[in-house]
Amino acid sequence: MPGGQVTNALTIDVEDYFQVSALAPYIARGEWDSRECRVEANVERILLMLDEKRIRATFFTLGWIAERYPALVRRLVDCGHEVASHGYGHQRANELSESDFLSDIVMAKKLLEDISGCEVRGYRAPSFSIGESNPWAFDCIERAGYRYSSSVYPIRHDHYGVPDAPRFAHQVRPGLLELPVSTARILERNWPASGGGYFRLLPYGVSRWLLRRVNELDGRPAIFYFHPWEIDDGQPRIGGITPRTRFRHYVNLRHTEAKLRRLLADFSWARVDEVFLGPTLRGAAVTA
Ligand SMILES: [Zn+2]
Repeated sequence: MPGGQVTNALTIDVEDYFQVSALAPYIARGEWDSRECRVEANVERILLMLDEKRIRATFFTLGWIAERYPALVRRLVDCGHEVASHGYGHQRANELSESDFLSDIVMAKKLLEDISGCEVRGYRAPSFSIGESNPWAFDCIERAGYRYSSSVYPIRHDHYGVPDAPRFAHQVRPGLLELPVSTARILERNWPASGGGYFRLLPYGVSRWLLRRVNELDGRPAIFYFHPWEIDDGQPRIGGITPRTRFRHYVNLRHTEAKLRRLLADFSWARVDEVFLGPTLRGAAVTA
């Protein structure tokens, strides 16, 4: 088994390039239906890549996508992957009222369960948008019937992050675990070690070193994430965006698939439920 004995959780946030939070100021929600949709083809590429390595992963799928592409959801199930929820409309949890957030995550769960025929146990908030300002979101996630959330990024970042949040799996409500995406602890600071733009930006060796720290120094499974659009260099370029947003969204798209292939080979990977919903976390302390 590659990467020692620790099995990590591989996650994919299934949304299209025009639904990304950083591009939200430039693409009105009402335009989504008129944009060229590339998510199906990109997910197929991911499925091939995973199948070659016999890896099963967790796909946090947007309800909006599932509703329009139900065959994509069924493909995930047929290939042995876990279907989890990324909410319905990709609105940040901290920009919704409590009741609107609850409706969004209840609707997404039901839609995904109806299409997949499987219980949907996991939820990830768009842009890791659960933090100190909206702890009520965990009450909603519990009430909606999810068993775990992976919605907190314990780092400092301009769009998301809670730098002093717990770094590892913990129980946030009775029956609900929070599984923060991974960080490496270096010089008394948390550094992003779990994918997204950082993975595209950093040389692969740095990402590998950070993840190994989580596995070997902390002795914990890592949670890594990426998006289908991050392997798609052919996606339409959105005009009029700031240089900073352009850099963050488009940097190294061409090289991401090759990097991901190395990552899949160098570590051991499985679905979130396989890694975290075992008996080991029972009895973890409840933290509000
Ligand atoms: Zn997202």
